[in-house]
Amino acid sequence: MKGIIFDIKHYAIHDGPGIRTTVFLKGCPLGCWWCHNPESWAKEIITYQKQEKIGDKFVEIEESVGEYYSVDRVMKEIEKDRVFYEESGGGVTFSGGEPFHQFDFLMELLRTCKEKDIHTCVDTTAYVDKDKIQKAAAYTDLFLYDLKHIDDEQHKRYTGVSNKLILENLILLDHLKKEIQIRYPLIPGMNDDETDILKMMAFLQKLRKLHPVSILPYHKIGKHKYSQFGIEYKMNDIEEPSKEQIEKVKKLFETAGFETTVGG
Ligand code: SF4
Repeated sequence: MKGIIFDIKHYAIHDGPGIRTTVFLKGCPLGCWWCHNPESWAKEIITYQKQEKIGDKFVEIEESVGEYYSVDRVMKEIEKDRVFYEESGGGVTFSGGEPFHQFDFLMELLRTCKEKDIHTCVDTTAYVDKDKIQKAAAYTDLFLYDLKHIDDEQHKRYTGVSNKLILENLILLDHLKKEIQIRYPLIPGMNDDETDILKMMAFLQKLRKLHPVSILPYHKIGKHKYSQFGIEYKMNDIEEPSKEQIEKVKKLFETAGFETTVGG
């Protein structure tokens, strides 16, 4: 079986516990305004033109994003780092895009990793059918679970989809007693209203346990990609959150009893 991957990052330290290999699967059904990987959205391999300086001359060259990988080829990349997993308590993280967008390929990778006793994380926003997430849960040790907005209308506005299924799947994984780390992207003026944060915390407090929360402050690193791929960038007026803003939100979560970190 083959799938399309747009990057494999070795020695990752922000994508779950220990030292990890992060495999980025192409395709995402959302379109978050702040996404720093818009090249991941299309499920297919895409090509684009870019300028490169050769000597004192700029020339147009064609680049592509995404490449077909067999499960065996991905596993060879993962196996290269096994010694680091064993020493650091790490493993492999499947990210995207949205990894569930290539469900069969993801399942095959997860199954193979577990056969080889490798710790597995799935970094997801879980906009996927319940039966699929339930099947994947059997082979996933930890879900890095993106929760972008508790208000459904705002969620639809900024991501293009409802949060209903995302919240239902979170309840399902919690009932299945899965390990979950909530990832909350902090975007000034979009999802940092204190009332919304309190509502999100109230939702999380109703789960079986208080799952840890990672705050992921918005940054503009991916901005240049939007013009490269001919996609409108809607975040020109949005600033990165200040240290004080981040600290204030962290305090809110901590005061409510959540183990809270900033970054991955
Ligand atoms: S879910 Fe992730 S990959 Fe998909 S658009 Fe949003 S930020 Fe980008």
